[in-house]
Amino acid sequence: MTLDQSREQPRGQPDPGALPCEPGSVADVPAWHVLTVADTRSLLAARPEGLTATEVRERQLRYGPNSLPPPRTRGPLLRFLSQFNNLLIQVLLCAATVTAALGHLTDAAVILAVCILNALVGFIQEGKAEQALGAIRHMLSASATVLRGGRRTAVPAEELVPGDLVLLEAGDKVPADLRLVWTRNLHIQEAALTGESVPVAKGTEPAPADAPLGDRSSMAYSGTLVTHGQGRGIAVATGTASEIGRISGMMARLEVLETPLLRQMAGLARRITAFILAVAALVFVVGLLARDYETAELFMAVVSLAVAAIPEGLPAILTITLAIGVQRMARCNAIIRRLPAVETLGSVSIICTDKTGTLTRNEMTVRTVATAGGAYMVGGVGYDPHGGFQCDGQERLADGDPVLVELARAGALCNDAVLRRTDGGWQVDGDPMEGALLVLAAKAGLDMAAEARRLPRIDLIPFESEHRFMATLHHDHDGGELLCVKGAPEQVLAMCRAERGLDGDRPLDPAGWQERIEALASQGQRVLAMAVRQGSTGAGGGEGLRRELRFEDVRGGLVLLGLVGMIDPPREEAVEAVRTCRAAGIRVKMITGDHAVTARAIAAQLGLENVRDALTGPEIDRLGDEELARRAPDIDVFARASPEHKLRLVRALQHRGFILAMTGDGVNDAPALKRADVGVAMGCKGTEAAKEVAEIVLTDDNFASIARAVHEGRTVYDNLKKAIVFLLPINGGESISVIIGIVAGLTLPITPLQILWINMVSSIGLALALAFEPPEPDVMRRPPRPAAEPLLSGFLVWRVAFVSLLMTGGIFAMFRWSLRHGADLEAARTVAVNTLVAMEVFYMFSVRYLRAPSLTLRGVLGTGPVLGAVGVVVGLQLFFTYAPVMAGLFGTRPLTLAQGFPILVVGALLFAAIEGEKAVLRRLGVTRG
Ligand code: ADP
Ligand code: MG
Repeated sequence: MTLDQSREQPRGQPDPGALPCEPGSVADVPAWHVLTVADTRSLLAARPEGLTATEVRERQLRYGPNSLPPPRTRGPLLRFLSQFNNLLIQVLLCAATVTAALGHLTDAAVILAVCILNALVGFIQEGKAEQALGAIRHMLSASATVLRGGRRTAVPAEELVPGDLVLLEAGDKVPADLRLVWTRNLHIQEAALTGESVPVAKGTEPAPADAPLGDRSSMAYSGTLVTHGQGRGIAVATGTASEIGRISGMMARLEVLETPLLRQMAGLARRITAFILAVAALVFVVGLLARDYETAELFMAVVSLAVAAIPEGLPAILTITLAIGVQRMARCNAIIRRLPAVETLGSVSIICTDKTGTLTRNEMTVRTVATAGGAYMVGGVGYDPHGGFQCDGQERLADGDPVLVELARAGALCNDAVLRRTDGGWQVDGDPMEGALLVLAAKAGLDMAAEARRLPRIDLIPFESEHRFMATLHHDHDGGELLCVKGAPEQVLAMCRAERGLDGDRPLDPAGWQERIEALASQGQRVLAMAVRQGSTGAGGGEGLRRELRFEDVRGGLVLLGLVGMIDPPREEAVEAVRTCRAAGIRVKMITGDHAVTARAIAAQLGLENVRDALTGPEIDRLGDEELARRAPDIDVFARASPEHKLRLVRALQHRGFILAMTGDGVNDAPALKRADVGVAMGCKGTEAAKEVAEIVLTDDNFASIARAVHEGRTVYDNLKKAIVFLLPINGGESISVIIGIVAGLTLPITPLQILWINMVSSIGLALALAFEPPEPDVMRRPPRPAAEPLLSGFLVWRVAFVSLLMTGGIFAMFRWSLRHGADLEAARTVAVNTLVAMEVFYMFSVRYLRAPSLTLRGVLGTGPVLGAVGVVVGLQLFFTYAPVMAGLFGTRPLTLAQGFPILVVGALLFAAIEGEKAVLRRLGVTRG
């Protein structure tokens, strides 16, 4: 911005009429990209130091929140109607019509009522699942960095208002439409708006009036991603007024509740349905030709077969199980962004994780400082800036070593963090490592506010994990300049020509420094080196000084001041989580930008498997893909690695058949996260770019949360299996009974309506309890599930068949027993129905542990949901059996105690039979599947 420009536009009341406007837009929306920075400022009454709190409040009232309306979900009516878009329901509706035509009006009404009831249940469950996901999506709201009242603050993106000064850096998602006022190598990927995935360069010069969206280089648009560089811009449009808001009608996509497993199950259900319809038709024809059934009677029998065989409740149960799992994971600080991850988590065999902040606490404290003058131990704890220096066991004053003070000053100048006093103590805003350097400066007796005034910052090269250093340029007020560099020691040493001694500069002794680096690193300390270069133009004032910092400026010719060693203790829960993962057959690998020796020391504290070997980034570069794939599985520490190395590692490990989770936070981590089977982004320090591509976002950046998510993932998968293995044999038992009945010309032990009752009321009620099943004790003590393993393994298919036959046997045995003991047909059928439901209840207790015995205290006591479901189902069954209205609808008869007792015995026998089968299988060693 030049002074001339700001003079052209009179301050005060802007005159929108005189300004270029967006073609075809509401008359007073200016074409921001054409305006100068000064015009934009005055039009929005924005100032370089940002808005005041009062202005922000006023504008929030005037412009509303900076958010888009939630994606349009299907309306309730549509959602209800869509429940009828289901083959089974359609079959039932046909059956109801035919039944009515045949004159069985009551039956038709009951079928109809059951259809509506089923649709209602589906409707409610789906609504609940959508609600659960919606709540989780809400937890991921973005934040933005703004300058308000001259202070840099992070605010929820929702609270931005036009006129706010927004700060952008690599990895950010642009939070509103911005007219850029300052840029530094700023590149933005605008695919969300333009579909173009190549990042475009941005600047501050006004763009031509007719520039299409993709060419408006002076603007940053809401929803796009910053890929490189930094920038500042004035918010010109927020919420629905932003470009993305205007097209959001097209953008809002509703996430559907679907995963590969659910799709597979839906397919299976469809195939079963088709198969059953074919069998039913066949049975109908056979029955008509071979036996002398009445058409109407036979039709009802065939309908009952269809109803019996189709697992109608299954898809709904699976969906709700998944939704409950997702909610449980959110409670463990793992937000699932893509549902299939829930299933994939169960087969993860390797977790590649960052070190700093994920495995460690990221609470840095400088422990050691090494200068040419000596090696100092630094006292004090945490961020409290009190503590002294010790050298060879003696207390030393910092003033005694000018190099120490200079190093502390350089570390605090080359720094973006802020150290604040709070009620509870001291707090750092920004990078904890830089915070630790501020603390060091204070301990060395420096007044950093005064230093910053004396040496204002002119420019910087920000830290990036690729180049691993940060540099700042400062001018003093006497025509001198100071360049401060801090970074990974190898990097900084390579830039230095000399080292600073107590009596002036002398040639660098690389070998000596290398030794000191190793010594610090082997204690698990994170080592940073500090270097400077001074320059001046002599008497000429500030004229000839450089105002911009380039990479060439720091390449060589620096003077090394010394090293600092920081400690960053491992998180206790991470140590525990690593142990859990190892027991669960999951290998934990640490990928860090830190020094190999430091990394190995931390790995040992964490208890990783192989802490002897480490592979460094440069070594990875030298290995071919084949060689890397051969070596990577056995190495657990990858040091001095950058994001490209992460990507190569993911590829190499996947090539070897591992299913892996990978954590990341930076923009450059995005490709590796995308490629990994489960990409895990950090919710706190992660960039929007990383979160965007991740399957899971951790709200606490903690490794332990990944382990818990795996735990939950395995549990959900188990519960899905249990629901399936629970429901299928009931359909199996019912349909075998019906087929036997028809083909053998026997009386049907259960009527079609009664089967409908069982499937849609008792079974669903009981299966729902399984969705809430807690993890089995051994979930984290068995190896990961092979990715190719089919859901219904041989073992499960056997179990389904076995239980189906047991159920058929139970139904027939009780039906015939009742008839023989003088019950009429209705009473015998009531006995049969109740027997089946009793078997279901006992079977549910059994299925809660697929392989382990269920006859344990824990197994018998059940859980709240299990007991609740049993209570409800028993109540409903009593109602079904004894209520006169049910007698009218379902043809039931009240049972006597003498009839009721054997029912329970049969249930218990089924339970005993399955427990016996489990014991035999355990003996035979059939443990997987
Ligand atoms: P990590 O995997 O441990 O998070 P990083 O990629 O963040 O590692 O950092 C790698 C190395 O870069 C560190 O060991 C340190 O030497 C250096 N480094 C990290 N942060 C900064 C910074 N803000 N300024 C200068 N150097 C840094
Ligand atoms: Mg880091």
